[in-house]
Amino acid sequence: MDPRKASLHDTPQQLLKDVERRFAAHQAAISFSGAEDVVLIDMACHLGLEIDVFSLDTGRLHPETYEYLETVRDRYGVQIELLMPEPDAVAKLVHDKGLFSFYRDGHGECCSVRKIEPLRRKLATLDAWITGQRKDQSVTRTDVPIEQEDQAFSTADHRLIKFNPLADWTSQQVWAYIRQHDVPYNKLHDQGFVSIGCQPCTRPVGPHEHERAGRWWWEEATQKECGLHAQNVVKMVG
Ligand code: SF4
Repeated sequence: MDPRKASLHDTPQQLLKDVERRFAAHQAAISFSGAEDVVLIDMACHLGLEIDVFSLDTGRLHPETYEYLETVRDRYGVQIELLMPEPDAVAKLVHDKGLFSFYRDGHGECCSVRKIEPLRRKLATLDAWITGQRKDQSVTRTDVPIEQEDQAFSTADHRLIKFNPLADWTSQQVWAYIRQHDVPYNKLHDQGFVSIGCQPCTRPVGPHEHERAGRWWWEEATQKECGLHAQNVVKMVG
């Protein structure tokens, strides 16, 4: 692997090109969950880059999100690998605690089963992953770097690098890019949703609310990470 590390002066497009150059085929992938990630897919496609795409299908997504996945697949001609939770683990959780235990005892357990375990399985096969995380998305993301060693999913014998090419972009920049390049977006954005996750854990936000206020709204703002990024936004190395 080339030791060159991403620079603050890299544009997202330069960074994506660099990722493709630094990592072997199918060893780096874009994690698709929202508008920012499709901006990255749009950039990669326009640059002719061969970067894999995956997404977490928790089984609790909005119908509009499933339609959006298909729209993106058709628009860009990309395969989107859907990562699903272990059926036995979901069955046990639902058997023991029902379908809405997260409203009573927090989202950690359900996210662990439906998101973290399938993501961990996938990331064990990669050397790098690419997300659309931005610093201004949340009080928990203000220090997100454009490149970091993944503190949550690296292991003693497997180093994983995480790239956040849009870390320094604002929401306004993302939406300007979407409009300028006619990038498809989730129809739920037209209904007041900003940050979109699972259907039971996402609601629209008001004009003066922060974009992550609609996620796990019954919990404290400092708890609004689902484990996909939690340790990385606390322990920065990049
Ligand atoms: S966001 Fe909600 S429904 Fe989705 S995995 Fe987490 S707790 Fe479960």
